[in-house]
Amino acid sequence: MNCIFCKIRDREIPKEFTYEDEDIMVFPDINPLKPIHLLVMPKKHLKDFLDLKDKTLLEKIKNIIQKMIKEQKLEDKGYRLVINGGGTQIVDHLHVHLVGPLGGV
Ligand code: 5GP
Ligand code: ZN
Repeated sequence: MNCIFCKIRDREIPKEFTYEDEDIMVFPDINPLKPIHLLVMPKKHLKDFLDLKDKTLLEKIKNIIQKMIKEQKLEDKGYRLVINGGGTQIVDHLHVHLVGPLGGV
């Protein structure tokens, strides 16, 4: 399988991780839309949001996103969470964008 995010996970492409554990990894987007633009993703290759059926993994992703929002001090600065799907995504390996701060706050 030719998945760029699996290659990042497997260290075939060098990358600094903002966070990593046995199930989840977080790293900065290569093309940030805002000063903070992190990608939160399961290590397991799930091709999109409809592939996410494991409640434990869903809970872990939620917990890590909440941790990142706090660590990046975005809780009162404006942030956005985005999951692209249905053909709008560039990379077919499930990931959540955490983007901020957003203007005006
Ligand atoms: P999608 O449209 O699939 O939700 O977004 C994929 C995101 O991955 C894009 O924002 C793009 O900038 C980012 N991206 C693509 N290739 C790489 C890469 O090799 N490294 C990193 N850090 N981000 C990437
Ligand atoms: Zn993958």
